[in-house]
Amino acid sequence: MPKKALCKVKESSIHQRGLFATCNIKEGTDIIQYVGEKISKEESTRRALEWEERARETGEGLVYIFELDDEWDLDGREGENPARYMNHSCDGNCEAVNCEGEIWIVARKDIKKGEELVYDYGYDMEHFLDHPCLCGSDNCIGYIVREDQRHKVRKLLRGRKKKKGKKSEKKKGGKKRKKS
Ligand SMILES: [Zn+2]
Repeated sequence: MPKKALCKVKESSIHQRGLFATCNIKEGTDIIQYVGEKISKEESTRRALEWEERARETGEGLVYIFELDDEWDLDGREGENPARYMNHSCDGNCEAVNCEGEIWIVARKDIKKGEELVYDYGYDMEHFLDHPCLCGSDNCIGYIVREDQRHKVRKLLRGRKKKKGKKSEKKKGGKKRKKS
């Protein structure tokens, strides 16, 4: 990292490990770059499918691919990339921004020292039941789904409850597949 690290990896109450602010961070600050291997769309699809499958078997659900442009994606799974530990939240204090082919994690609001850095993984609502959310925020819908689709999932869940009676599902959380 070029400048003094604004965050560090620690145990998280949301899921395994997470990224936490090491100082107060102002809204709009570039906190950390999400780095990784530049891969073709073809390779990206292949890896994503492979991991999705494994995720369903193990409950791990770890997909670390970002879209860079029409041709290339970024796979941040291997190597020195602390940003990959960031968890999803239904009330994120950060967002991932594509800045001329670089993915940066940027503060969406003022963040206090010690707070966990979280953002919207941007998962499509398809297969949302495979990606439970444990973010614990007031507006958590219980699943990792991107913001603009959450109202649809809420509706679906209400319908389910009526039909089947009360039933809560708890599984391990998934990881990111964020499109910028
Ligand atoms: Zn949530």
